[in-house]
Amino acid sequence: MDIGDSNLDSEATIKVGTVAPTGEPCEELYPPPCCMVIFGASGDLTRRKLMPALYRLTKDKILPDNFFVVGAARTEMDDNGFRRMMEDAVKEVKNFDAKAWKEFSKRLFYRKIDYSKDTFENIKKLLDEKEEQFGTGRNRLFYLATPPSAYSGIIETLGSRGLSEEGEGWSRIVIEKPYGHDLESAKRLEEVVLKNFDEQQVYRIDHYLGKETVQNIMMLRFANLIFEPIWNRRYIDHVQITVAESMGIEGRAGYYEQAGVLRDMFQNHILQVLAFIAMEPPSIYESELVRDERVKVFRALRPIDINKLSESLVIGQYAAGEVGGKAAQGYIEEEGVAKDSMVPTFAALKVFVDNWRWQDVPFYLRSGKRLSEKFSQVTIQFKGVPHQMFRETLAAEIGPNAFILRIQPDERVQLRFHTKNPGSKVCLRDVLMDFPYMQGYTGIELSDYERVLIDCMLGDKMLFVRRDGMELAWGFLTPILKAAERGPLRPEVDLYKAGSYGPFEADKLLQKDGRRWVNL
Ligand code: NDP
Repeated sequence: MDIGDSNLDSEATIKVGTVAPTGEPCEELYPPPCCMVIFGASGDLTRRKLMPALYRLTKDKILPDNFFVVGAARTEMDDNGFRRMMEDAVKEVKNFDAKAWKEFSKRLFYRKIDYSKDTFENIKKLLDEKEEQFGTGRNRLFYLATPPSAYSGIIETLGSRGLSEEGEGWSRIVIEKPYGHDLESAKRLEEVVLKNFDEQQVYRIDHYLGKETVQNIMMLRFANLIFEPIWNRRYIDHVQITVAESMGIEGRAGYYEQAGVLRDMFQNHILQVLAFIAMEPPSIYESELVRDERVKVFRALRPIDINKLSESLVIGQYAAGEVGGKAAQGYIEEEGVAKDSMVPTFAALKVFVDNWRWQDVPFYLRSGKRLSEKFSQVTIQFKGVPHQMFRETLAAEIGPNAFILRIQPDERVQLRFHTKNPGSKVCLRDVLMDFPYMQGYTGIELSDYERVLIDCMLGDKMLFVRRDGMELAWGFLTPILKAAERGPLRPEVDLYKAGSYGPFEADKLLQKDGRRWVNL
């Protein structure tokens, strides 16, 4: 063990040595032959996330040779134009390999569509032709990477052109977030989806669940004996879930002005992470059983008392400041944002899970843009020791233990505890046992999008959001959104400086409960 600097406010960090593998290395899973049709293929998501993920999966030989991609969008381009556009995007990827790209790009095709039935016929013809050529067995993955306003139309047309039918191969649809704008609109979208596809064909994606350390929550909790006995209200004082971004809205004002932080982060990523932390162990590790347990957590969420909303919710918006040593403009100065916009870019929310395990244990959820650092972590804050037996020896009281699951940027598991400080005088110090999650792993590292794309192709739905889960999450959040956006009890939107940890009111939310946020 060596001692280094702590990145919490503890005094020392203990690094855990490399852990010897307990068995044979895990085998990779290889998806079957298939094709992927991306609608909105000229957009940001395709360039920044989907195409780099597909390229890496091909380069690492995880995707089979019998695989091709059809990009579809309204922009005028031919296959070569699309390949050039994607190459420019993928070149940004670490260890770009020109040869591997050349091979991969031969499997990329593009069709300009105006989303009319005729242009869908063109896509269908292209699929028939290329499926023959690539031997993909008519397995088709349709990916909606357009603005959500286009989802229903595309789904209807896929259905009416027979593209949702399964026969020789499977047909699946991947729907990006945001899945609706509130409970009512999500249900309307749901109706269209389920009129044209069966639930088992639908993949409501939350790429956040593809992050290694989110999945690892289940392994840590249920593959070890030591955590479960203390994973409850008897030992846990509270839980914090933070998804902090240092970026602003990156030119996506059109989307963000409609969404705000509660829709963008809470309805999906944060509530899903909460579900992994709070869920009960399923009897076996199987998609539907795991999803059942996550859904039960949503069912147990205590509705927020809208008349006392400000006791549970703080919202804020970034003002000009400095992030990472660079000047950052305020939200309302961003291009495309209304000068009087009240859209929150930060929220902190206190919630409770009303069940035997978690009764009266607060879960403090927090997310914001243009914060001091980009980091996501879960902190399980334990209760203090029942009796301060060192009180005569030590001037200060002993603080509680904490278990920290860092999701990004660097994936780690940390335990904060107390030890004796070496030396003649008896005093304690607060140390951090630190396990970098990727330590000792030499296999292929998959990004969140790579992982969820593989799962769609394999038909594994564990990391996807089921219909009931999606509706319950919206059902919990929609009254809060309505009150926060236009109700008479609408909370103030507190300004915070870009580069800070959010508005002071968010600190007060915890301070009044005698607690404080754990930052990086
Ligand atoms: P973009 O705004 O970049 O749109 C993608 C493409 O959709 C555009 O290039 C455009 O292509 C096409 N498009 C725009 N308007 C319409 C319309 N009215 N009808 C049909 N097509 C249209 O979005 P992103 O790529 O950023 O995101 C796509 C989806 O993924 C969104 O729902 C977003 O919320 C979600 N998402 C995005 C993430 C990201 O990092 N970007 C992360 C997580 C989710 P053309 O004009 O050529 O047709």
